[in-house]
Amino acid sequence: MTPGRPVPPPLAKPLPDVDTPSNTSADTTGATLAAAYGATSPESGLVPLTVSRRAPKADDIEIAIEFCGLCHSDVHATRGEWGGDTYPLIPGHEIVGRVTRVGSDVDDFTVGERVGVGCMVDSCRECDSCLDGLEQYCENGMVGTYGAKDPRNDGAITQGGYATSIVVDRNYVLRIPESLDPAAAAPLLCAGITTYSPLNHFEVEEGDVVGVVGLGGLGHMAVKIAKAMGAEVKVFTTSERKFAAARELGADDVILSTDPAAMEAANRSIDVIIDTVAAPHDLNPYFHTLRLDGALFQLGLPSEAMPPVNPGALIRRRIAYAGSLIGGIAETQEMLDFCAEHGVVSDVEVVGADQLNDAYDRMVAGDVKYRFVLDVSTLGSPTEKADA
Ligand code: ZN
Ligand code: ZN
Repeated sequence: MTPGRPVPPPLAKPLPDVDTPSNTSADTTGATLAAAYGATSPESGLVPLTVSRRAPKADDIEIAIEFCGLCHSDVHATRGEWGGDTYPLIPGHEIVGRVTRVGSDVDDFTVGERVGVGCMVDSCRECDSCLDGLEQYCENGMVGTYGAKDPRNDGAITQGGYATSIVVDRNYVLRIPESLDPAAAAPLLCAGITTYSPLNHFEVEEGDVVGVVGLGGLGHMAVKIAKAMGAEVKVFTTSERKFAAARELGADDVILSTDPAAMEAANRSIDVIIDTVAAPHDLNPYFHTLRLDGALFQLGLPSEAMPPVNPGALIRRRIAYAGSLIGGIAETQEMLDFCAEHGVVSDVEVVGADQLNDAYDRMVAGDVKYRFVLDVSTLGSPTEKADA
């Protein structure tokens, strides 16, 4: 504590008596140090770091993290591929853990409860999007879970879930149903909601036919969620080697997208396509597989230009070409409850801290079925001084 600085007043309501997680330590302001992994530069790879977490304010929840999913965004951000990243940067926005402390105004979450944090930890709460529960489209910019300026916390840069703890405003904390395996549930918080939201927006139901382009972290969730919604699912892939895997996930049909005859056979057979491919690719053959009033949602963000869309293909069938970004907090909770009801989780490979860099290389190579999840108990202990 800085000499001469007054001791902060105690919270109005005493914090519940809980054991401080063994791998965190508190200072006199109530802030804690957590062990973490993150990047110190675009070239550093992931290295052990120590992160300071604020003492819970009145509306805050402190979470001891159990698992954190590894998302492609984490790779881009830590390697500085999107530009504007600040270091040190601790990634991770598929966070699952248990509540260890709550602020004085939090009466709807209890210590010990299993909770989650996804891609955002705040937003302006005043714009039309926020008031409609669409915080991900906040007109003033949502506050990302890592690498974002946090206006309500002195403009500090947020640090993510490759860490033993995190403190988040209760309005951005989700409940993870106890029936879900916590490691396999972590990817629901990004990959799950990213695919659930457009399917939900399109009101997919029994009798609908859903197409899924790409069978990675997002694609495999799209297959499972669309099946759970009662749809028939067709998977498009460029590789015949993925046929069996697609069927194992529940796909009713698999189409080799590089085979013009197979694509022609799928003409006018699909109501909505969830396109998860982040590399540039020609969408026109996919529009040809949509029925009248069909829609294609593009979820992947290619770093280079896409081949042009043929407006005639859209016009002749009143097709909507749309994008979609994660989901709002209420919709994310709805998705988690839906997944618990239908027993939907991600297929995961759990890794320890010492495997993180290898896991990143394997993700880039597409060598994972279908999501890596970090076991946070392998992070070790924080040092005496925070790096971030
Ligand atoms: Zn993500
Ligand atoms: Zn807003």
